Amino acid sequence: MTVDVIVVGAGIAGASTAWHLAERGASVLVLESAAQPGSGASGNPVAILYPKLVPAQHLDGHLQSQAFLRALKTLQDPRLSPHFLRCGVLWLAGRKPVVDMDSRHPWWQTQVWPVTAAEAGAHAGLTLSTGGWWLPNGGLLHPAGLLAALLAHPRIQVRTACRVLGLRPVAGNTGAGMAPGWQVHTSTGELEAASVVIANAGDALALPQTATLPLSPVRGQITTFSGASAQRAVLCYGGYLSPSWRGLQCLGATFQPGRVDDALDDSDDRVNLQTLAALLPDVARALADSPRGPSRTSVRWQTTDYLPLMGELPDLARYRDWLLQRKPKKGLRAPADPDSPRLFVSVGHGAKGFTQAWFGAELIAAQWAGAEPELPADLIAQVRPERFLEKAWRRGELTVPAQG
Ligand SMILES: Cc1cc2nc3c(=O)[nH]c(=O)nc-3n(C[C@H](O)[C@H](O)[C@H](O)COP(=O)(O)OP(=O)(O)OC[C@H]3O[C@@H](n4cnc5c(N)ncnc54)[C@H](O)[C@@H]3O)c2cc1C
Repeated sequence: MTVDVIVVGAGIAGASTAWHLAERGASVLVLESAAQPGSGASGNPVAILYPKLVPAQHLDGHLQSQAFLRALKTLQDPRLSPHFLRCGVLWLAGRKPVVDMDSRHPWWQTQVWPVTAAEAGAHAGLTLSTGGWWLPNGGLLHPAGLLAALLAHPRIQVRTACRVLGLRPVAGNTGAGMAPGWQVHTSTGELEAASVVIANAGDALALPQTATLPLSPVRGQITTFSGASAQRAVLCYGGYLSPSWRGLQCLGATFQPGRVDDALDDSDDRVNLQTLAALLPDVARALADSPRGPSRTSVRWQTTDYLPLMGELPDLARYRDWLLQRKPKKGLRAPADPDSPRLFVSVGHGAKGFTQAWFGAELIAAQWAGAEPELPADLIAQVRPERFLEKAWRRGELTVPAQG
């Protein structure tokens, strides 16, 4: 089978990219190693959609803020909107202000405004002892429904229980009018595609083309509750507590850098409740008495600069050799290689994949189509997947690997 694009991984990064590619007219095959989409970090019962708040001078160059606005736009699509509950997010201040923000901020009174404890309580449907910031357009996503809706696009096929084991570039022949492509070696056989998107989170490190990307794991566990709750908005305070949606209320999440183990741990559930109790003891006490749903553990993968890696990826080994022959200079980029097949990545989403992956999806789809992305150029530069190689080169840290 030959398709335009094979996407590796059916989490939010893979599914949103497949959807935007399909919207651009690509035929897409999504390969997922697990039995169903959303088996990795994208499989929690809910995901919170909201950005970290930043002062006005940082807003235009802040990926999370701009990606949040793009996500809100995409989620208006009637095929996706049933899986987004725009219930609002309360960012509770606690003892210290979360951001320096006043009426000169461009989001003032449109995306965010300050609230007293009483106003926060009215939004939340609870009695709260602290005020904070109200983000009326933030809310909850239902990952299972959202992934299913994205992958139901008529130009997308999905193959589950199919692990990608390797990729081999197949050179094109310009003279014979043959475009380059990829042979994709999977646990269920060989497949071919003109382009590939690697969106399999930390497992990208097992593929030679992406093995050197600076990804590191952060394990996390959520705790759920199945009782009735009067809570109407999401509470964020370092952890988060969602309102009940489709039968479950979600309390998150522990944050354990360096760990990839996925066994459930009761002490994580206790930590989640303690984090809530530190700011909202009454809410935590009431929650501790409600019936429990299943807890869930998964792994976030983050980069050393905490920004995701999204967009077209050059052949890193070749690019490295090309850079090593040149003197470090800002802005110098390798010319595109028309004989290499095209490879894209969307990985390293850390704790904000459901807010940020949409930006990468739009970017990759535009790059694939050869169209100018309708996205700010400085943000595209921030997430370029080859930026780490270039930084090492500029610092004089790129060396020729030892021959072995
Ligand atoms: C506890 C916790 C709570 C979180 N809460 C939120 C939240 O509220 N809001 C938010 O925005 N983000 C949240 N995040 C972060 C968010 O879940 C991640 O950023 C996001 O899910 C990453 O998506 P992904 O598609 O990159 O990775 P994943 O969802 O992990 O998807 C990767 C997929 O690739 C598949 N795969 C792996 N290897 C292969 C292979 N070789 N071949 C084929 N398929 C393969 C995997 O099975 C998996 O399905 C949370 C994360 C954790 C751990």
